[in-house]
Amino acid sequence: EAATSRYVEKNPKSKPLFEKAKASLPGGNTRTLLYTAPFPIIIRKGDGHKLIDEDGNVYQDFVGEMTAGLFGHSHPRLQEAIISAVKNVGLSLGATNPYEQRYAELICSRFSLDRMRFTNSGTEANLHCLAAARRFTGRRKIMVFRGGYHGSVLSFPSDVSPNNVDLGDWVLVQYNDPDAVKQAFTKNSDIAAVIVEAMQGNGAIPATIEFLKTIRSETTKAGALFIIDEVVTSRLSPGGLRKLVGIEPDLVTLGKYLGGGMPFGAFGGRADIMSVYDPSVTGSLTHNGTFQNNTIMLNAGYVGLSEVYTPDVVELLNNRGEHMRRKLAEVFKGTKFCVTGRGSLMCVHATNTGMQPSQMTCKDDINAVDALDLRKLFWLDMLDAGFWVQPRGSIALNLQIPDEAIKEFIDATARFCDKYRDL
Ligand code: PLP
Repeated sequence: EAATSRYVEKNPKSKPLFEKAKASLPGGNTRTLLYTAPFPIIIRKGDGHKLIDEDGNVYQDFVGEMTAGLFGHSHPRLQEAIISAVKNVGLSLGATNPYEQRYAELICSRFSLDRMRFTNSGTEANLHCLAAARRFTGRRKIMVFRGGYHGSVLSFPSDVSPNNVDLGDWVLVQYNDPDAVKQAFTKNSDIAAVIVEAMQGNGAIPATIEFLKTIRSETTKAGALFIIDEVVTSRLSPGGLRKLVGIEPDLVTLGKYLGGGMPFGAFGGRADIMSVYDPSVTGSLTHNGTFQNNTIMLNAGYVGLSEVYTPDVVELLNNRGEHMRRKLAEVFKGTKFCVTGRGSLMCVHATNTGMQPSQMTCKDDINAVDALDLRKLFWLDMLDAGFWVQPRGSIALNLQIPDEAIKEFIDATARFCDKYRDL
């Protein structure tokens, strides 16, 4: 309660702005995830790795726009790329432009895709990928996983139903459970595709190799397609997380930072499957979207991937993340907190039991021990100390965060643990 009062006290300008927003936005909100009670803090400006709110409070940003903000808030090269597209090329041209070929070629080579297509968001990339799988296989059912998130209309919370329940076209299976995958294939002979995150973003739960290998072999056996949703995880190695774990799916979806700060999504993979979108072939699938070849995204994304997030920088950022997670794990020893994740992506968990990351193999494991009050306390305490973190504990490092800020974050976490050790 004291921490919530402090939040209200420090943000007198956000509250009335939020009240005003309610008149035109339901609950004053246009992105559900960003709603926080009693009101969200309204951010006025982003600068480098910092955010400044309407009351002038400054935060070091460890949310990184849920991974899309990989380049930070004011990377000079990205700013130039955006301005150059606006000034020299023009906005959406209503025509094919050379920027799309150039960026598609880079994405195909970097992520080992035969063919790809752009979309406006990760959600759309996944929807079109599923449509491709259905057309290619002539089947309808899609296997998805409890706790999986592939966009706000493709969200599969772990609390909706028991394991392995057939929900019409969706076959919902437990994450990280190879036997459940095998059983689901035995029960359903008509699965078009399996779509999975190689690390579930909601909770930063990495998939085991055995789980991914099982999906690979079962899909091949059943004539179904294997789709890895790399919308979040493609930043974890130069070729994406799938390259790091050595698993080859049939299709991949991409998103977030690959737009260089602009709205972005993409999907691609095997040429024979992607040809369902070849408009020169009679009966091919339609895939339109007014802004999906917009010049700003295509230029910013290209510059971001070719000049800024180069393979050596990918390694560096993820090594810094590994270091941060190891340090946090040390700080959390003997407390009810722990941290999961990979590379530059992680999640701080508060549990009733002091559970270890290795015991957290699916969202149900976490839900069973989730200590909501403690999690909220961590969020409020870190905000008060000047660190922007998500209420659910997710952290994504951006390129503008200096080492010093990471050290300060770890020190603030240690102070938090000392203060509340007895809780
Ligand atoms: N897939 C995953 C794994 C995601 O985490 C997200 C967004 O958080 C999406 C897809 C959807 O992307 P977008 O928000 O761009 O539609």
